[in-house]
Amino acid sequence: MPVKRRKKDFTFWEKIYIPEIAKGLALTFKNMIRPKYTMQYPEEKFIPSGSYRGRPVLVMENNGVERCVACGLCSRVCPPLAIEVQAAETESEKERYPVKFEINMLRCIFCGLCEEVCPEEAIVMSKDYELAFSSRQDAIYDKNKLLTPVNQLQDRIEFLRHYK
Ligand code: SF4
Ligand code: SF4
Repeated sequence: MPVKRRKKDFTFWEKIYIPEIAKGLALTFKNMIRPKYTMQYPEEKFIPSGSYRGRPVLVMENNGVERCVACGLCSRVCPPLAIEVQAAETESEKERYPVKFEINMLRCIFCGLCEEVCPEEAIVMSKDYELAFSSRQDAIYDKNKLLTPVNQLQDRIEFLRHYK
């Protein structure tokens, strides 16, 4: 049972609250001069490290060829069924490519499973966190929005090679 203190039990300083007010003010001033971590977004952009999982993108080689061989593994493993892949044949060495590759960004939960299962390192989580759509159709990212040059994804690829 809590012990109740009667008014006469309080000291003079406790009765006038001055020490408590001083302690509160000291804490406030201490926090005013501490380093600030708030970023002035969007003027100041947050640049994440390689471990960050932003929106998934398709890797495009420096010669403009996509790495994806349209095996469909990412689509099969995606928990919210956000990926749609349609394969077609090609004359090139890899034989198959995705004639259609779409990710519904309204469904994507950024779990990174697509990236984990891809045998070609063809889909990776980028640093892009700026997602805004004005319609449901806008949220469906096709190859035009997904293909990203490999040199922009180096941080993530190196991170994956190190930790996968
Ligand atoms: S990150 Fe997860 S939810 Fe998003 S597309 Fe890849 S597997 Fe699907
Ligand atoms: S991104 Fe990778 S897992 Fe997905 S279809 Fe292409 S090669 Fe297969």
